[in-house]
Amino acid sequence: MAKLCLICNKKEAVPEFKPFCSKRCGDIDLGRWLNGTYVIEGEDGGALDAANDLGPDAHHIPPETNDISD
Ligand SMILES: [Zn+2]
Repeated sequence: MAKLCLICNKKEAVPEFKPFCSKRCGDIDLGRWLNGTYVIEGEDGGALDAANDLGPDAHHIPPETNDISD
């Protein structure tokens, strides 16, 4: 049994564009990713990188990090 396209949910997904029924639906899915419709919660990464970018002026970073830079 073929699965239905994840985008239109009407046509059967074809192997070439799996799990979509066509390139068009695949493009729609890609567009959703690019637009941030699908938000992935990054538990490790984004938050830490942002804190590091703030540098020594960041006073809300963990105390142990302050000890190093002070
Ligand atoms: Zn489709």
